[in-house]
Amino acid sequence: MARNIGAACRRCRRENLKLFLKGDRCYSDKCAFERRAFGPGQHGQSRFRKVSDYAVQLREKQKVKSIYGMLEKQFKLTFRKAESQKGVTGENLLIMLERRLDNAIFRAGFASSRSQARQLVRHKHILVNDRKVNIPSFLVSENDVITLKEKSRANGAINESLEAVARRGVPSWLELDKDSYKATVKALPNRDELTLPIQEQLIVELYSK
Ligand code: SF4
Repeated sequence: MARNIGAACRRCRRENLKLFLKGDRCYSDKCAFERRAFGPGQHGQSRFRKVSDYAVQLREKQKVKSIYGMLEKQFKLTFRKAESQKGVTGENLLIMLERRLDNAIFRAGFASSRSQARQLVRHKHILVNDRKVNIPSFLVSENDVITLKEKSRANGAINESLEAVARRGVPSWLELDKDSYKATVKALPNRDELTLPIQEQLIVELYSK
């Protein structure tokens, strides 16, 4: 599956926001954004730049794509599905992104970043309702039970992530049972629980042009 392999920290500096793409490093003093909180490249520190409406909308879309580690084609497809659903398109989009299996695994604490979560899914470490699922874009539903395969429970990185999850907290739509390596989807995610500043309306405006 295609994925974005650009430098993660550079993306944070481009968006002028910590996107938490590199797991534990993001919480340490090694975080590149903490050290250099200005845009990357030669003109990164220029202060006076005219920004068009289009550029603002584009940046917002790029920011959300980076957070969820998606490429344009896949992101646009998700947007089109969100648009075809009842309700507010922007909110539908964010809820669909949150429901992705790789995101749910990251949110539950089995992985320290979404890219690590995606690896776990691709490498078949994850079961949903006792069935192997190796598709990161799989959407979890209410009452789904996500578990780590028995053989994968000794994995050091997963156990470290589970120990560190208290730092960022598990959202209320998921219930984590650390001892049995299990997370239950108690309800569908709620827009209000997304703590990163996202203006989804800008993405809707961009794709509506
Ligand atoms: Fe972003 Fe994390 Fe890199 Fe900091 S360490 S710049 S939060 S990806």
